[in-house]
Amino acid sequence: MTRLVWFRNDLRVHDNPALAFARRDNEAPVVAVVFVPEQQWRQHGLGERRINLNKAAICALQDSLSALNIPLLIAPGESFRDNLGYLQELLTQFEFSEINFNIEYELNERQRDRQLVIWCRDRHITANRFHDQCLLPPGEVLTGDAQMYKVFTPFRKAWLSQMSNLCPPPCAAPAVQKKAVVPQAILDFWQQHSQPPAHTEDDLWAADEDSGHEQLAEFLDRDVLYYQEQRDLPDLDATSRLSFYLALGLLSPRQCLYSAWQKNQCMLSGGETGIDTWISELIWREFYRHLIVAWPELCKHRAFRPETEDVPWRDSDSDFARWCAGETGYPIVDAAMKQLLDQGWMHNRLRMISAMFLTKHLLIDWRRGEAFFNQHLVDADFAANNGGWQWSASTGADGAPYFRIFNPTTQSEKFDPQGNFLVRYLPSLMKLPAKSRHNPAPEQRNGCGYPQPMVEHKAARERALDAFRQTSERKAG
Ligand SMILES: Cc1cc2nc3c(=O)[nH]c(=O)nc-3n(C[C@H](O)[C@H](O)[C@H](O)COP(=O)(O)OP(=O)(O)OC[C@H]3O[C@@H](n4cnc5c(N)ncnc54)[C@H](O)[C@@H]3O)c2cc1C
Repeated sequence: MTRLVWFRNDLRVHDNPALAFARRDNEAPVVAVVFVPEQQWRQHGLGERRINLNKAAICALQDSLSALNIPLLIAPGESFRDNLGYLQELLTQFEFSEINFNIEYELNERQRDRQLVIWCRDRHITANRFHDQCLLPPGEVLTGDAQMYKVFTPFRKAWLSQMSNLCPPPCAAPAVQKKAVVPQAILDFWQQHSQPPAHTEDDLWAADEDSGHEQLAEFLDRDVLYYQEQRDLPDLDATSRLSFYLALGLLSPRQCLYSAWQKNQCMLSGGETGIDTWISELIWREFYRHLIVAWPELCKHRAFRPETEDVPWRDSDSDFARWCAGETGYPIVDAAMKQLLDQGWMHNRLRMISAMFLTKHLLIDWRRGEAFFNQHLVDADFAANNGGWQWSASTGADGAPYFRIFNPTTQSEKFDPQGNFLVRYLPSLMKLPAKSRHNPAPEQRNGCGYPQPMVEHKAARERALDAFRQTSERKAG
C-alpha cells in the first residue's frame, strides 16, 4: 500500500511534516504529487513573475525528492476542481492507503481540502493533515472568552506564553528511500505523465530551499543584531528578505523561529532586542493567518470592520494608474512603487507608506491596492497582504486609527534622511541636495523632469478624515 504526499505551498523536503510523516518508517513506499494550476493562480491574482518562480520551485523540489528516491508527479490540472478530480483518480487507480498534506488556511483551499477529506473518509483512505505554516494552529491562541484576538499585542503575549519560551526543532529531511520499492505501475505512470513546467531564471530570486537556508543563516549571522534600529531604513536592506521563501514554503516559519531562538540563547522573548523584534514579525505573520481562519469573510474581500464598507472610496482609474506607475509626485511613494515593479518586493515601511497614500491621500479602495501588490510581489501571501492593506486603510483588525495618516514627506525625511533610497529608484533627483529630494520645489521638479504632487498633503488628509469621520458617525447614529 503506497503512501502519497501532496505538495502545495510547502515546496521543501526539510521540516515538511506531511513528507516526514509519510516516510515515518520503511513499511510502505512513498511517492509525491504537485500541481501547476496556472489558471487558478491567475484567478487568485498572482502575477507572471511569481508564477514563473512557483514553477522554478516545483522543479527544484523534484530534484530534491529525486535525491531521496521519491518520485514526484508534476501533474496537469489548471484549477482546484481539476486537481481534486485528478487526485481522486490517482488514489483509486493505484489504491493508495493514505494521502498526506500540509494545511492551507485560505477559504477556497480549505473548502477544497474538506471535500477531499470527506471523499477519502467514504473510501477508507486516510487523509492526514498537518500544520506547517503556524507554530500554534489557528484556533489555539484565544482570549479568556475563547475568542480570537482582534489586536496583535495581546495575541503576541498569549502566543509567547503558550510557547513557554521554547521552540520545537524542525524535522529533518526524510531518509533516502530504497530504490525499487515503488510499484512499477506507479513508476511508469509517474514517468509518463509528469510535466515539469518550463520556466526562466529570475535574476534576483533563487527559488530553491538551499538559497533560503543560506539567506536565513546570513541574516542571523549579522543583520538580525541590528534589526531593531535598522529595519525601518529602506536604504540599508537590513531586513531578512525571507518573505519570498516563506510564501512558497521553501522555508518554514519553524525553521526561521528555531534558528532565531537558538541565536537568542534559547529564548523567544527577553533576549537580544534585534532578535526579539524579528521574532515578533514572524508572530505578525501568524496573527494574520489566525485571523483569516477566525473571520473567513476576509477571504471574500470584506473589510474586517464592517462599518468601513461604507467609506466613499473614489473611483479614479487615472489616479490609480499614477500610483501604480510610481508617478504621484511624492518621491518616497514613487520610489517604493518602482522598487515593487523592479524587484517584485517592497520594504515593509514603504508598503505602509504607499498603501496609506493610496487609501488616504487618494481615497482609493484598499482592495485595488491589495490586488496590485498581489500581482507584483514575489512574496504575495493572502493573509499578510490582506492584513497589511487593511491595517494601512484603517479597515482591519488592529488597523492604524483612521486619523493617523502618514505624511509621506516627513516619513521620507525620517527613514531615508539622505534620500539615498529615493535616488536609487528616481535617479533624476540625484542632482538635488539631499534635503530637497523628499519634496522638491516646483522649479526643481521641472528641472529634473519629475512630476508635481498629484494631491496636496493637507487637503488630501482632510478629505480622508472627513470620509472616515462621516462613516463612523453614521455607525454611531
Ligand atoms: C500593505 C502591505 C502589504 C503586505 N503584503 C505582504 C505579502 O503579500 N506577503 C508578505 O509576506 N508580507 C506582506 N507584508 C508584510 C511585510 O511587509 C513583509 O512580510 C516584509 O516586508 C518582508 O520582508 P522581509 O522578509 O525582509 O521581512 P523581515 O522584516 O525580515 O520579517 C521577517 C518575516 O516576518 C514576516 N513579517 C514581517 N512583517 C510582517 C507583517 N507586517 N505582517 C505579516 N508578516 C510579516 C514575513 O514573513 C517576513 O519575511 C505586507 C505589509 C503591508 C503593510
